[in-house]
Amino acid sequence: MNNYINNDTIAAISTPAGTGAIAMIRMSGTESLKILDCFFRHSANTTISHRTCVYGQIYDNCELVDDVIVSYYKSPESYTGEDMVEISCHGSVYIQQTILDLIVRNGARLALPGEFTFRAYRNGKLDLAQSEAVSELITSENKKSHDVAISQLKGRYSSRIKSLRDKLVELLSLLELELDFSDEDVEFAKRDEFMALLDTIESELKSLICSFDLGNALRNGIPVTIIGKPNVGKSTLLNCLLDEDKAIVSDIPGTTRDIVEDVININGYVFRFIDTAGLHKTDDVVENMGIERTMEKIKNAKIILHVVDATNADRDSIKREMAEFQSYLHEEASSSSSKKWVVVVNKIDKAGNMDNIQCTDDVCNRDVKLIDGDSESDWIFISAKKGENIKAINDMLCDYVKSQDIDSRTIVTNVRHVEAMREALAAIQSACKGFEDGIPTDLIAIDVHQASYSLGSIIGEISNNELLDSIFGHFCIGK
Ligand code: GDP
Repeated sequence: MNNYINNDTIAAISTPAGTGAIAMIRMSGTESLKILDCFFRHSANTTISHRTCVYGQIYDNCELVDDVIVSYYKSPESYTGEDMVEISCHGSVYIQQTILDLIVRNGARLALPGEFTFRAYRNGKLDLAQSEAVSELITSENKKSHDVAISQLKGRYSSRIKSLRDKLVELLSLLELELDFSDEDVEFAKRDEFMALLDTIESELKSLICSFDLGNALRNGIPVTIIGKPNVGKSTLLNCLLDEDKAIVSDIPGTTRDIVEDVININGYVFRFIDTAGLHKTDDVVENMGIERTMEKIKNAKIILHVVDATNADRDSIKREMAEFQSYLHEEASSSSSKKWVVVVNKIDKAGNMDNIQCTDDVCNRDVKLIDGDSESDWIFISAKKGENIKAINDMLCDYVKSQDIDSRTIVTNVRHVEAMREALAAIQSACKGFEDGIPTDLIAIDVHQASYSLGSIIGEISNNELLDSIFGHFCIGK
């Protein structure tokens, strides 16, 4: 971080490495224009002024390097808050390197990873959470993670954290005032008001922490686990969904011994499909290991596609099987309760009449408690082999994401943030307990201080070099 703390002019190629049609090289710092002037020639009729583009040529001594467009942003109205120059040139690697070399030869230094964004942070253009959002925006691969990153970059998320922290700081100041007057035994705010405030903050933090699970799923793909007895067509279904032959399909029960996983994007939402070993009792040691791993995957899944074979099942046997699978999850009641369970009745091409499976009134007559999968929309009839009605699965998956009431402002996707929130929550809970137990104000103040510190670290109101290093060090060079 020490290398970041200076004011020299920095430069980097900001477009990806390699040859493209166009590339962009940027400079930031007080010397930017002066350095540009050493090798850029343009018409005498044009002047380089704030937020304008100027066409001209780059020369290395007398040799023409390229025709370029230069954009100039004057401090403080630039990304970094400093004077900035951006040179758009043709995408040849040779041209990019020659221009960067000219810039460095004329006085700039090569930028470190994330140094432009660090300067934006240092100059108050972005807070820490917003700086991290820049990195998330660059790496966002789907609509939802993009929405979340944009929202975070625009500061909506930061303002929520800031307002929680402000409330804590206010509370802390009252507690400290009381400490100053401790001899006089005065109370500057009623204890029940303190408690009400801490309760509000506690529930806000809990909801933010909860959103991390979903935020993570949105970013990395919502985990969808495909389970079912051997040979019901799980691998065929996965191949059909992925449109390729990744899982091994065979007539021999228990072929999928390990877990096959792939990610697909359906209408802008990313799903991580996991085909598992069949869930059934076996003496085969290797297969049992696969089944154990299946259980792990079921626990982590948001959606379970429970595949059954229409040619040898009826509604009762399916419900019994569902109850059996769900009983494996019994110990994980809290995680299983948030799952969507969908029964996929496969091989309808072969099954003929399906009166014994299709719903009549018996949905209401169930004798087992089901987590889900007990409404008609949770039963989908398909032929994986013929690709029939796969669209119903895709539609159901997208509807599931839409039904999650995703408010982009409140979704936490960053591990560092959620850790800080957990610390803050623990401190708040400890302060609440302190109030209840009537422990001395100075001890409660320590907890409130800790909570405010943890929240401050998210937006960078409190930071240290190690933290900044680890955040900005993960950026690409040129950002
Ligand atoms: P898994 O063990 O559950 O993964 O089952 P597989 O996907 O390996 O399929 C087992 C057998 O059922 C294979 O011979 C598949 O071709 C067949 N199969 C899978 N889906 C269908 C289907 O929709 N209709 C028919 N007729 N056969 C299917």
